[in-house]
Amino acid sequence: MKLIDTHCHLDFDVFDHDRNDVLKRSRENGLCGFVIPAVQQSTWGSLISLCEQSDDMHYALGLHPIFIDKHELNHVGSLRDCVANNQPIAIGEIGLDFYDKSLQAEKQIVLFEQQLQLACDVGLPVILHVRKAHEEVLGCLKKFPVIGGIVHAFNGSLQQAERYQQSNFKFGFGGMLTYERSSKLRKLATELSIESIVLETDSPDMTVEQYQGQRNSPEYLPHCLKSLAEVKAMSMQQVALQTSLNACAALNLHI
Ligand SMILES: [Zn+2]
Repeated sequence: MKLIDTHCHLDFDVFDHDRNDVLKRSRENGLCGFVIPAVQQSTWGSLISLCEQSDDMHYALGLHPIFIDKHELNHVGSLRDCVANNQPIAIGEIGLDFYDKSLQAEKQIVLFEQQLQLACDVGLPVILHVRKAHEEVLGCLKKFPVIGGIVHAFNGSLQQAERYQQSNFKFGFGGMLTYERSSKLRKLATELSIESIVLETDSPDMTVEQYQGQRNSPEYLPHCLKSLAEVKAMSMQQVALQTSLNACAALNLHI
């Protein structure tokens, strides 16, 4: 079984003491691809160095909306240079987070639109973080028609999903699916076609039910796979194959 974790922050310091062990256990569990999106300018360098250590680690470069206080407007210029001088597979993690009212909305929109423009210019897909802002993000995608990408931890409506699909987006599902109480999310996963879904853990956040309260890790991705296979009434092998094909298509990966 070949699994791809399309969203894990393996560069965060919570993995500093045992990152190689986490990678080893993940590979033993069938992981053959790790997509690590960036969050802020100061960590792009270390993220790139980390991913250069192994062919199965891939990075995206971008400015994450939750880290809005860390970003300066000139960081988008630095991002453009960094993208030109390296090989990111996507622009990310970018987006809008209107859930947390303390995150400056106007600055988020400026940075998001500039990063979408960059993604259009360089022809890379985007990895989106969207909370309480699907309509705004869909509006931005109309203005800046990127080639597509992934809406990470998707939790919008089926109608919104259909509009993202028209823009060539796939949807990341992960740890939250393992909770029985996630009935709305499970229903959404049932309604979406398997061709539009990719697996992710969002490590170290959003831990699967089996390891609730602990640090999340890509090695737990098989639990997300199992839950998705259950809600889709498909075999784990079928879901693993299709979601990995979807991830490769969305991010131009060759695995
Ligand atoms: Zn993330």
